[in-house]
Amino acid sequence: MPTLSRNLFDKARQVIPGGVNSPVRAFKAVGGDPLFFARGAGACLYDVDGNEYIDYVCSWGPLILGHADPEIVREIQEAAKNGTSFGAPNPHEVELARLVVEAVPGIEKVRMVNSGTEATLSAIRLARGFTGRDLIVKMDGCYHGHVDALLVQAGSGVATLGIPGTPGVPARVAEQTIVLPYNDLDAVARLATERGREIACLIVEPVAANMGVVPPKPGYLEGLREITAKHGIVLIFDEVITGFRLALGGAQEKYRINPDLTTLGKILGGGLPIGAYGGREEIMDRIAPEGNVYQAGTLAGNPLAMRAGITMLKRLRAPGTYERLEALSARLQAGLQSAAQDAGMPVRVIRVGSLMTAFFLGRDPVDWAGAAVADTKAYAGYFRRMLERGVYLAPSQFEAMFVSLAHSEAQLDRTAEIARDALKGMRWGPSA
Ligand SMILES: *Cc1c(COP(=O)(O)O)cnc(C)c1O
Repeated sequence: MPTLSRNLFDKARQVIPGGVNSPVRAFKAVGGDPLFFARGAGACLYDVDGNEYIDYVCSWGPLILGHADPEIVREIQEAAKNGTSFGAPNPHEVELARLVVEAVPGIEKVRMVNSGTEATLSAIRLARGFTGRDLIVKMDGCYHGHVDALLVQAGSGVATLGIPGTPGVPARVAEQTIVLPYNDLDAVARLATERGREIACLIVEPVAANMGVVPPKPGYLEGLREITAKHGIVLIFDEVITGFRLALGGAQEKYRINPDLTTLGKILGGGLPIGAYGGREEIMDRIAPEGNVYQAGTLAGNPLAMRAGITMLKRLRAPGTYERLEALSARLQAGLQSAAQDAGMPVRVIRVGSLMTAFFLGRDPVDWAGAAVADTKAYAGYFRRMLERGVYLAPSQFEAMFVSLAHSEAQLDRTAEIARDALKGMRWGPSA
C-alpha cells in the first residue's frame, strides 16, 4: 500500500464519512485502501506516492479526451479570468445548448443543471408535471443518480411495487416507483396494459452501464418506444454515460430511437460538474419560466462548465472520432478476451463502443439477475493484481471500463499483456 495514500485515507476518515465523497471510491468491493491521486495526464493517473497507472475509470466517463487535455485546460483558464459564475445569462450557455440540440436527435430544447442526478430528478418531475401522473418505471440494475425515487431496487415479480433501496427514502416515495427487469419487453407491455394511465414516465439506460455493461437486446429499445407512445408515457433515455460516447448523438443516434426526454452529464462538462435534460419542445416548454414545472440552479450554465463543454463537443464532432474510439476499444476487448482465454478464466468481455466490462461470469448477462451472479471475489483479485501492475480499473465488478481517445494502441496492448500476467495463476472462485 503506497504510504502517502494510506496516511491521507486515515486523515480523510476523521473528517469525511468513510473517507470518500462518493461510496464506490472507498474500494469496499475489492478490498484494500483507496489511492489518492495527485494528477492525471492523457490516459494516465499518478498517485500521491508517484506511481503511474493506465486509467480505465476516466472519472467514470467524462474524460473521453483523457486527463488534462491541453485545449480544455486552456479554455477553463480563459473562462476563469472573466469570472466563474454570473447567476445571469451568458453567451456560452446558448452555444452549448445549440451544440447539444444539433448533436442529440431527440433534443429540441435543453436545460443545463449541475449533475446527472439533478438531470434525472428534474426530468421525472417534468414528466409528472406534463402527464399529471405519478408512477415512474425504472429497470432493475439501472442507475440514475441518487434521486430518492430512483434508488428503489426490484422486488421479484413483474410489477413489484418498490421498497426503498436505502434508509432515508420514505416508503411512500418508493411506492411510486415500479421496477422491472432490464431487457424484458413483455413485462413492460403487461404493466402498461394494466396501469398505463397511471404511469408518468419510463426511465432507462439505453445501454445499461451501471450493472457492468449490459447491451439492449435487439428490438428492446424499439419496443419501449412503441409501448410508451401507445400509452402516453414519457420515455426518458438516461444518457448520462452513453451521451456523446456511443456516438455524438449518444445511444439514441446509434440505435435510431428518439426518446421524449434525454438526460445528460459526464462528457458534456468536459470534466467539470454538469448535467442537462432536454427533449421535445412541447414537454420542455412546461418548465418554468415558460411553464409551471419549477426547476432552478444557482451555478447552472456557469461559463466554466459551458466553455469546457463547448470545447469538448467541438472536438468530438471532428470526422473519424468515433471510428477511432471504436477501433481502440475493439483492440482492448480482443486483447483482454484473449488473455482470459489463455489463462483458462471464463471471463466475458462485454463491450458496446468504448464501454466494456470484463465479467467473471459463465454466460452473457441480459439483466441484473444475470449480472449479479458474477464472481465478485474473482473480480476483486483481478482488480488488485491489475492495480499492482499499474492498471487502474473500476473498483467494482458492476461498473464499466472507459476507453478514451487519449489511450494509445501501445497502452491498450500493454494493458492486455498485464491482464495476461495478472490472470495467469489466478484461480476461479473464492480463493482467487
Ligand atoms: C453517473 C450517472 C448518473 C448520475 O450522475 P452524477 O453526475 O453522478 O449525479 C445518472 N445516470 C447515469 C446513467 C449515470 O451513469
